[in-house]
Amino acid sequence: MNSQEGRQPDSKIGVCHYHLCRKRTKVYRCPFCGEYFCTEHLEPRPPGLPNFESTKRENKLFMEEWRKPGHPCVPYFEFWEAEQKRKEERYARALDALIKSKPLKESFMSKVKRFLRKLFRATKRL
Ligand SMILES: [Zn+2]
Ligand SMILES: [Zn+2]
Repeated sequence: MNSQEGRQPDSKIGVCHYHLCRKRTKVYRCPFCGEYFCTEHLEPRPPGLPNFESTKRENKLFMEEWRKPGHPCVPYFEFWEAEQKRKEERYARALDALIKSKPLKESFMSKVKRFLRKLFRATKRL
């Protein structure tokens, strides 16, 4: 009866895997990278540094994630990036649908054409 063998426990007494911590305490397993962290560093966050100069929406989101306490987690970041991409796509699709349902440009252009035709007729009479 050793079905638990080979399976890692979700929590144990150990050393926090975060390189700036290394505390010996109760540690919990990160579901993304499988390493153990103390409660303070259990939350995964994107690895690497954000571009502090950039004002891009994507970078702002990255910055928010990056500021959170936790450990830099590569598998989580891949998941996070895919999630952001999915959100972007959904946003682009919604925007596309909006443009298609309201042909603003075309109706504006037809108004302009009508106005020009009127103007042309008016100037012809002179
Ligand atoms: Zn992790
Ligand atoms: Zn820690």
